[in-house]
Amino acid sequence: MRTLDTIVIGAGIAGLSAAARIAQHCDTVVLERESAPGYHSSGRSATFCHFGIGNGLVHRLTAISKAIFATPQEGDHPPLARRMAAFFIARDHEREALKRLTETTLSHSPDARQIAEEEISDIVPVLKIGDDGFVGGLYDPDAYKLDSDAMLQANVRALRDAGGALISNSPVTGIRAVGSNWIVDTPGESYQARRIINAAGSWADDIATMASVTPLCLTPLKRTIIAIRPPDGIDVSDWPFTKTVGEGFYMLPEGSGRLLACPMDETPSEPCDAQPDEETIALAAWQVEQATTMSIRRIDHKWSGLRTFAPDKSPVAGYAPDAPGFFWLAGQGGFGLQTSPGMAMAAEALSLDLDWPEPLRAMDIDPTELSPARLRR
Ligand SMILES: Cc1cc2nc3c(=O)[nH]c(=O)nc-3n(C[C@H](O)[C@H](O)[C@H](O)COP(=O)(O)OP(=O)(O)OC[C@H]3O[C@@H](n4cnc5c(N)ncnc54)[C@H](O)[C@@H]3O)c2cc1C
Repeated sequence: MRTLDTIVIGAGIAGLSAAARIAQHCDTVVLERESAPGYHSSGRSATFCHFGIGNGLVHRLTAISKAIFATPQEGDHPPLARRMAAFFIARDHEREALKRLTETTLSHSPDARQIAEEEISDIVPVLKIGDDGFVGGLYDPDAYKLDSDAMLQANVRALRDAGGALISNSPVTGIRAVGSNWIVDTPGESYQARRIINAAGSWADDIATMASVTPLCLTPLKRTIIAIRPPDGIDVSDWPFTKTVGEGFYMLPEGSGRLLACPMDETPSEPCDAQPDEETIALAAWQVEQATTMSIRRIDHKWSGLRTFAPDKSPVAGYAPDAPGFFWLAGQGGFGLQTSPGMAMAAEALSLDLDWPEPLRAMDIDPTELSPARLRR
């Protein structure tokens, strides 16, 4: 039995970014079921950071993270992110939603500007405009395309530099409380620690059940992305991340001249290795064709992943009210990458009982907003 201070379950972006900080204070390991970090949601994301998603808490966490994404990494490691504009487009009946999004975005991104119908084609020439299409938009030049692999690897390096370890191929199969400690079993070894961080993504409720802790009723929702090749002669490389304000789709340029497109599907799912289905792949291509003048000739690649939400759609960081030493870090939904730096700061402070970090204080983020106890009321 190996004895530690902190066991983090799950090497997605949530678990790794928290572990990288916690390991600076105490003996920490991350246990990951798969052979490499980021195999599930964190490796299947659209990797974008913007204010067109989530509630006010998510926006304030995103604002903290944005400052970190904008800072170059030390040494010759790849950047965590690069600036790419976000362009939100609205149909006639979505003018009110566009107005609300404009107010929210401007409060965090003062260079964002409204776009009139006649300017839309200057930004993304293939978008349909007018009665048949979009009538206005919001252009935020200060958004970021993230690099999930660079983010995961930066956190693994920081974890190891602090003396912590990532142990892959280690599915947690049993958890029990013994005195003031937790014993965590994997097929190869058992670990003992006074603190568990449950960062198991879509499986976080299963981990709680394994530990006889009350689950939070998290809901995994499947989302699908397709990679398409635009018609000959269309250069998408300097297009922004383009997203409908209401229901619809988003698309963004990917390296090698392709476009990624997503129909913003939200299909409830069990925690699993999510796979795309033919109907949703066809829907993604249809959405792009409906909104643009492009016809999709070829889908190069497609994948799905799970976005896992708490019942109130806010992320969760805090000790379980019914289980001392059992810390929840879950419910990052569709914003887990873009909120991870802020969430990791919160997890470090709350799990180790440190002072509440200044960046969170400056954004008026209160621990009670993140606490799992809020979901019990
Ligand atoms: C299609 C799609 C698009 C998205 N786009 C964006 C975006 O543009 N911007 C953004 O910020 N977010 C986006 N997201 C959301 C983001 O990917 C997630 O919020 C984030 O990755 C969640 O991270 P996580 O660490 O909680 O979960 P995961 O990355 O799923 O990590 C959880 C880990 O726990 C491990 N685990 C589970 N059970 C066990 C066990 N018993 N023992 C050991 N290990 C276990 C799993 O193997 C997994 O590696 C998107 C998600 C999807 C699916």
